[in-house]
Amino acid sequence: SIVFLNGVYVRAEDARISPFDRGFTFGEGVYEVCIAVNGKFVDAPAHLARLDRSLAACGIAPPPEKADLDSIMKELLGKNDVTTGLVYLQVTSGVSPRNFTIRPERRSTLLMLAQASDFEQASAFREGIHVQLQEDIRWLHRDIKTTMLMPQVMAKRDALANDVSDTLFYDEQGITEGASSNVFLVDAYGTLVTRSLSNRLLAGCTRERILDLARGAGFSIEERPIQRAELATAAECFVTSATYLVAPVLTIDGVSIANGQIGPITRTLQCLYCNYMNN
Ligand code: PMP
Repeated sequence: SIVFLNGVYVRAEDARISPFDRGFTFGEGVYEVCIAVNGKFVDAPAHLARLDRSLAACGIAPPPEKADLDSIMKELLGKNDVTTGLVYLQVTSGVSPRNFTIRPERRSTLLMLAQASDFEQASAFREGIHVQLQEDIRWLHRDIKTTMLMPQVMAKRDALANDVSDTLFYDEQGITEGASSNVFLVDAYGTLVTRSLSNRLLAGCTRERILDLARGAGFSIEERPIQRAELATAAECFVTSATYLVAPVLTIDGVSIANGQIGPITRTLQCLYCNYMNN
């Protein structure tokens, strides 16, 4: 495959990142995942705006290619013959001696890669997922999309070890978010409930789009923490992310939501989102 690294397109096997890159030694990096469907990016401006916010929050200088990121994304798809798939962007603070506080002298590192994947055909989207709950042990800047993903990797590995496909996190106020997604519940009255934005969770681009589509379709919406006890009695539950799209949640810690079926409101929102992506 062809990747974009610091201003040039290179074959992945020829790409070289320094052992002194602070993304490697300190995990000092931020990232984005944006998908394309039939060659068209889904909410790319929102993803690039969030990348800017993550960089600013971490004090990482924007890469010199900042103004051209959307055209590089398009070109990268073409060079990899991908029409439906994802583009991954990672920016680290660059190369410096192994020293916490020293400022890198050179440019921020920018890596972009493309991967084919058909999200609408994925079983998570078509059939739903089974999840477990875990206490959210991450730091308190979850609104920043950093590459420090150890807690998420551990939570997802633990899910697989427990024969489920993902983990939802909770804190003392309720559900925060999934390990790589935002969580929605449909209550008995058909109201959509999802946690309000704060430092406790990532402002998902898909979350925002779904809220917008749901509002447009006349659903009532409550942004507030979802209590763990509410989940068992929820009419429906689903998670959103760029790659999950809208994935129905069938069971939580072994307890079925809506008899383990995909609920009608979840299906409606899946349809609205697919129409949005494909048009
Ligand atoms: N929360 C976390 C922790 C995530 O990693 C993701 C996926 N990037 C999301 C939420 C969903 O964000 P988005 O809809 O922008 O993909």
